[in-house]
Amino acid sequence: MEVLNDIKSVHNLIIKLKQTGTTIGFVPTMGALHQGHISLVKQSLKENDYTIVSIFINPTQFNNSEDLNKYPITTDNDIELLKKHGAQAVFFPKVEDIYPNGLVSEHYEFNGLEMQMEGKFRPGHFDGVATVIRRFFEIIQPLNAYFGEKDFQQLRIVQELVKTYHLPIRIVPVAITREKDGLAMSSRNVRLTQSQRNESPIIYQILLQAKDYLKNHTIEETKKFVEEKFKETSFELEYFEIVDEKNLNPVNEKLSNQKLRAFIAVFADEVRLIDNLDLN
Ligand code: AMP
Repeated sequence: MEVLNDIKSVHNLIIKLKQTGTTIGFVPTMGALHQGHISLVKQSLKENDYTIVSIFINPTQFNNSEDLNKYPITTDNDIELLKKHGAQAVFFPKVEDIYPNGLVSEHYEFNGLEMQMEGKFRPGHFDGVATVIRRFFEIIQPLNAYFGEKDFQQLRIVQELVKTYHLPIRIVPVAITREKDGLAMSSRNVRLTQSQRNESPIIYQILLQAKDYLKNHTIEETKKFVEEKFKETSFELEYFEIVDEKNLNPVNEKLSNQKLRAFIAVFADEVRLIDNLDLN
């Protein structure tokens, strides 16, 4: 596996791959890799000749400096894991490779997709995400790029980015990988205390209960149900929303022919966890 630390070697590699007609699959990550990331890598390996994984903790998508400073870094493990699963290259860009004009993100609008949930509670987050992803697409020029449904809103925004700028890249969604007890895998899970980790499957359990509850209750009642459930836990609910999967607008009334998805963000002390569930 190639370990690429400078952008020149990435440029040379991409030229070589393009010249030989080698198809490129791209998996962007922030490292501290787990089986959720690996599911994206496996999907890419199946569908492309050459898979490039990037590991870059993108400062502009963090709206909270403590979250950024405490983001786990496990470089040696990450390299070993990627080698083991057969990725062809891993790219560790420097900040100046991604931000040649200084560490600021560009401003993006995606028909309101960026306004709800993560966009509302993490101001500037999606500007940072769109900026870094657009830059990566420019550098790597993949045929296919893989994004987890764990960050469903991010996935929708990247799909919109590609559409808006007519980028010739296929965005491939990958289902959420969960721990055996249902907790959605996340790099941040290692920051949970043992007792928070033991309690954390409740997040997915409440999502499943909400899906069931919604069958015989209104959206408003279901939201209230979830709020009450979280009062019985040590987690603090930041938001629970039921939205139209297409435009991510919150839905107040159930309509037929609508694809609904529930989204949740909770705090375990200062560790923020997100999850989502298809309600159809
Ligand atoms: P991150 O390193 O958290 O930025 O995630 C990199 C990519 O992996 C994103 O597309 C995430 O949605 C995806 N990802 C992270 N956790 C999971 C998971 N548990 N299941 C599926 N995909 C995931």
